[in-house]
Amino acid sequence: MQDTTLMQIRSIPIASVVAALTGMDATREGNIMCPLHGDKSTPSLHLYHDTNTFYCFGCKTGGDTIKFVEKLKGVGFWEACKLLASMFQIEIKEEEQSTDPNKKKQLREEDKYFNALERVISLQQTRWGEIEKTRPELYNAVVNRFGDPTDPNSITSRWGLCICDFVSLPLGMKWNELEGVTEEYKAALLIKVDHTAMQHRVLIPIRNAWGRVVGFSARQMVKVEGTEYPKYLTSRSSRFFKKGEVFFGLDKAVTLARKTKTLNIVEGYADVMTLHQHGLVNTVALQGTALTATHLKQLRDMGVRLITLFPDRDAAGEKAVAEHTTTLIKAGFEVKVQLYGEEGDDPDSFFKAL
Ligand SMILES: [Zn+2]
Repeated sequence: MQDTTLMQIRSIPIASVVAALTGMDATREGNIMCPLHGDKSTPSLHLYHDTNTFYCFGCKTGGDTIKFVEKLKGVGFWEACKLLASMFQIEIKEEEQSTDPNKKKQLREEDKYFNALERVISLQQTRWGEIEKTRPELYNAVVNRFGDPTDPNSITSRWGLCICDFVSLPLGMKWNELEGVTEEYKAALLIKVDHTAMQHRVLIPIRNAWGRVVGFSARQMVKVEGTEYPKYLTSRSSRFFKKGEVFFGLDKAVTLARKTKTLNIVEGYADVMTLHQHGLVNTVALQGTALTATHLKQLRDMGVRLITLFPDRDAAGEKAVAEHTTTLIKAGFEVKVQLYGEEGDDPDSFFKAL
């Protein structure tokens, strides 16, 4: 299936998908009855129309339109895509029907990897209540910085942030279900990296353009006494997670970016999440890498023409902006640079201070 076809599929409004499959009016504000777990009295499914995603506070399931169909129909990613394409008259030009057994195996393992990471998030999101009781300092730090996990509009809910202990599998998962992708899973969850460094962190899921979890960034929320660790530790690269191919936030930014043909690029994960909270949902970040040919192709496929760069107000930010501007102009894009606040500020701290 071509990237542009997938992009079209992901741009079908979530309200239309829910209405077509369940008959419910999903256009109004507020929660609706969740068909995924069968709400009895209190509606717990929240639709985010701006990013075309959903989250259920009852069954702790969230994602995009494709994920909704996967869960509702009990099918895999590709089946869900095909179903949506046929329901909304989107023509699939090129089938993902490879006869090469190696290619088939790779796709199967890729699916297994994505599904395992998705499962970590849904399992760990059921544990916020327990974390509040057993690790109040960490819980409060997350709530103060990213908002309450029970508030549908907090960053914590919208981005699926969760706590994971990084030493083993979450309760409810087994190693044998990861056969063939164990090493990649360990790389994604940073398992067995210096455990002290991994304490007191919240996991920020990194999703690819199709909303599938490819890795995590673990952000330190509480300082570990007497030690200096980086604020962010990101999943190690693997055959399923290539940092130079993923824009953080693109899965949520794609709808508005396609509509306006504009995209904002910021430096960090927190910058993206904060700008989205302020309505700038066509915002993404690179992951400390240069703009690659894959990135540029994604921009072209979305039909984006104008890129606005929001650099950090420091020497590294200036250097990055000069490099990105050159690359983007050479590739035929229009570029704008938006500076915020004072020397030393980043867009996140600027907006937080407002
Ligand atoms: Zn539900």
